[in-house]
Amino acid sequence: MTLPSLFLSHGSPGLILEDCPARDFLAGLAAGLPSPKAILVASAHWETERPTVAATARPETIHDFFGFPRPLYDIHYAAPGAPALAERVGNLLLRAGFEPALDPRRGLDHGAWAPLHLAWPKAEIPTLQLSIQSDLPAEHHLRLGAALKPLRDEGVLIVGSGSATHNLLAFRRSRLVLDSPVAPWAAAFADWLAGCVPAGDRAALLDWEAAPGARENHPSPEHFLPFFVALGAGTPGLAGRAQHRSWTYGVLAMDAYAFD
Ligand code: ZN
Repeated sequence: MTLPSLFLSHGSPGLILEDCPARDFLAGLAAGLPSPKAILVASAHWETERPTVAATARPETIHDFFGFPRPLYDIHYAAPGAPALAERVGNLLLRAGFEPALDPRRGLDHGAWAPLHLAWPKAEIPTLQLSIQSDLPAEHHLRLGAALKPLRDEGVLIVGSGSATHNLLAFRRSRLVLDSPVAPWAAAFADWLAGCVPAGDRAALLDWEAAPGARENHPSPEHFLPFFVALGAGTPGLAGRAQHRSWTYGVLAMDAYAFD
């Protein structure tokens, strides 16, 4: 059983409570996939100097956000960890020339548990996280994904969880509501991405900082770098597929892509 790798835009932590197409998409995600044996999430919300794999047996739910509605803080996503798989991930990264670390205490941040809570609400599938290195380029994250590609044949679902567009200043500054009109500068970047993925154009994707609106949409790169982990875990030369495209708050593209 080979699973695709996925890039998911996780949006606002409040997405779980928001009635919108992106929430519906994530809630229906599992129905379109073979049931994974484990889920490995490279999340925008775990940044470290070197690639680090969570080897936690019972990961805690980290509520790494402030000022959101109370029910979000009551969610505890009780998926088991996967320490043995974490070792294997570490070995794959080592063999690919990285210097990985294992973290036996790391819990699940909302970049991981929020989309998984919608897609696999029973929290039965062993789940582990991989950190990103926001001071290293897209190409580094593409190689991380490529090193993990064999896991797809073993029933592991590799997820990059970030955001196709992510300007939090714009998100907070304007009085945006869930269905605010889409900002043109945000649309420019999301449309560029939607053009490159099905063309299978890795060179153009790796040159993302030259894309229209790149700086405005990603003043810091951490929410876009997980995209490259998912891309790298795909088969080179095969086009990616857009699984979902929608907007929240006019500036957060909720686009999701799959790579076979
Ligand atoms: Zn986020």
